[in-house]
Amino acid sequence: IDLAAGLSPLLADPARVLTQPQVVERLSRDFYWYSPILRPQLDGKHADIVVQPISNAEIIAVLRWCFAHDVPVTLRGAGTGNYGQAVPLHGGVVLDLQLMQAIESIDSEGVAVCEPGVKLGVLETEARKQGWELRCYPSTIAKASLGGFLGGGSGGIGSISHGGLRDFNTVRALEVITMEADPRVLLHEGPAVHDILHAWGTNGVITKIWFQLTSAVEWAQAALAFPSFAQAFDFSETLAVDPSWVKRLLTVFEWPLPSFFSPIKSLAREGHAGIFLLIAEAQRAQLEQAVRDAGGEVTFAEPYAGLRSTPLLSDYTWNHTTLWAMKADPAYTYLQCGFDLERSREQFATLKAKFGDDFLIHIEWMKNGAGNIFPVAIPVVKFTDEARLNDMIDTCRANDVFVANPHVNHVEGGGRYREDNVQLQAKYRYDPHGLMNPGKMATFVRRNVAAMAGKHA
Ligand code: FAD
Repeated sequence: IDLAAGLSPLLADPARVLTQPQVVERLSRDFYWYSPILRPQLDGKHADIVVQPISNAEIIAVLRWCFAHDVPVTLRGAGTGNYGQAVPLHGGVVLDLQLMQAIESIDSEGVAVCEPGVKLGVLETEARKQGWELRCYPSTIAKASLGGFLGGGSGGIGSISHGGLRDFNTVRALEVITMEADPRVLLHEGPAVHDILHAWGTNGVITKIWFQLTSAVEWAQAALAFPSFAQAFDFSETLAVDPSWVKRLLTVFEWPLPSFFSPIKSLAREGHAGIFLLIAEAQRAQLEQAVRDAGGEVTFAEPYAGLRSTPLLSDYTWNHTTLWAMKADPAYTYLQCGFDLERSREQFATLKAKFGDDFLIHIEWMKNGAGNIFPVAIPVVKFTDEARLNDMIDTCRANDVFVANPHVNHVEGGGRYREDNVQLQAKYRYDPHGLMNPGKMATFVRRNVAAMAGKHA
């Protein structure tokens, strides 16, 4: 089947059908190579062709054609996902949405209406001009797209005050196009957004997003050093749980993690744990005093000048921390954990006693959907072999530490799967032939479609 011949006439400009092998391979990859488990599984996987639509009409035409010819379609925003979410396992078409990047409006309630390809950094900058800012964003803000964040991300900077993407109606509504003989354009509002959120593009194309922003704050960035991890963690907890501190980011690094941040080594103190913060500029002096009182040192504190700040401390937090560690030693990889606020110190101690410096603690404080503050961790771990990595995961779980395993390539294995199964149900309704990112929703069975569609239509 000649994909280029079939798809080119469907776009206003056939130049947006890309066939050059290096380009197709590049646009079939994401950051799956973070995982030593996923790397051998996904190396060499790529689409046959890339299509870059600029309108719903083009998306509908492409999906209709692909459905008729049984061609798989994998969606792509900016390809910064870590779990191979955007890597096609069975060839076919990569539908690259980066050209659909309009911010249609930001209303008086702070709801931005956007196309999926808008870069989060562009949205943040535009929002701030109007007195708003993103509630939460990944540390990849400069590159990542809003549609990709909703399809494959979970939270990040801002989540300490506003929770993750799934919380507090941050995603107010979505427009979704289905993968059927006659693709439908549907609106998912309120709780129905969860049918599509974090489904890795397996059950519909998000084509428009109603995204709740929050009032902009004048921020300050600060870097702190404490002689021990215990002191740093204690201090971070006092800030985290006290709502009078207005904060956007609160990250704690065990030594030697701060030593891996080569461009900003001057902010680290040998052998000391580090804290990076975004805190209200109005509270900077109060913070500096509190740090001194707690036996710490402020190694950097300045008003935040937006994404052009130098240094930009968020570039070292969330999953960027892992990137810096891997630059220092490629044997590092990571886990995604949720600790128990009451038991976290005991849980840290158990893991450190067993794995020592092969398990370096990196905490991101976060608020959950119930409004509770708790320490999420993206520990940087030494990879020796799969059995030891699994032992780390098992040891976490045996000690009631939640693990969202980033070393699996399907939605269900990643720890953000929903027990109410709404993403799978939506897949039966919207992608009955299983053509969207096939293989990534492992519980989908094509032969069950008739029964499931009847049940949930
Ligand atoms: P892509 O990688 O292109 O896509 C992600 C998934 O969404 C894919 O399955 C894709 O098929 C699907 N998708 C894309 N567009 C659509 C659409 N329009 N409709 C439906 N599905 C779609 N993530 C966090 O949550 N928080 C972090 O702090 C964070 N830090 C990171 C740091 C680094 C250094 C790296 C490499 C990754 C990090 N990530 C983080 C993961 C990633 O950056 C985020 O998930 C990001 O938001 C993905 O956006 P993207 O545009 O690159 O999406």
